Amino acid sequence: MALISAENVSKEYHTGEISTKALRDVSFEIEPASFVSFVGPSGSGKTTLLNLIGCLDKPTQGKIRVDGKTVHDLNRKQSAVFRGSVFGFIFQAFNLFPVLTAYENVEYPLVMVKNEPASGRSEQVLKVLEAVGMLAQKDKRPDQLSGGQKQRIAVARALVTRPKLVLADEPTANLDRKTAVDVIRLMRDMRDEFDTTFIFSTHDQGVMAEAEVIHTLEDGQLIHSEKRLAHTTEEPK
Ligand code: ADP
Ligand code: MG
Repeated sequence: MALISAENVSKEYHTGEISTKALRDVSFEIEPASFVSFVGPSGSGKTTLLNLIGCLDKPTQGKIRVDGKTVHDLNRKQSAVFRGSVFGFIFQAFNLFPVLTAYENVEYPLVMVKNEPASGRSEQVLKVLEAVGMLAQKDKRPDQLSGGQKQRIAVARALVTRPKLVLADEPTANLDRKTAVDVIRLMRDMRDEFDTTFIFSTHDQGVMAEAEVIHTLEDGQLIHSEKRLAHTTEEPK
């Protein structure tokens, strides 16, 4: 069964008198353990769509099912609990706590979301820090890390609760091209290691080329979907 299915999803925003159709009749399915990108220019609806998948908002029309649940049917509290149990999130601006070390940033979701006792936490934190190649940096604070290193920590933080699904809205927008491609390849390696589905958005051609499934949005419509079985191994320019 698909991990996510969207059926004829539309989203309209209303600001005073003005209404904006951010998504128009979008349908797709996403399989477990896939590596998927939504691409399109600024304003094409990428963030809106990721917010719907991540249960941060609801469609105006149509239906989104995530892991067997219809997102529309969840109330505020239920969707918060569902989010915590199913998703990890990665952000464009990294969103690490500046006063916490890399280790403490990764540990945070285990404390807050999973309410995990201290004894069980350290093994899990160290395991994901090692997986993203950041064990040696664990005691550094974000301001002592490069952009690429910060995003590696953010990837570890998204994975530490072992979510089924990681959502990343333009995770490479603040990175140079080579670092961007490195971070996306790291995400793909993490998919291979943990079987976590990754969904990311980008408007960068080089970054999007790393995805295995590419959905292209234009003006709120899904205009093209493409499956690429062999991903590029070319060095980024
Ligand atoms: P992208 O992430 O691809 O840049 P968005 O999903 O942010 O696109 O935006 C799609 C459209 O919806 C744009 O026209 C944008 O201005 C509009 N939009 C996004 N969020 C809101 C909002 N909260 N209120 C009103 N309009 C919005
Ligand atoms: Mg956006």
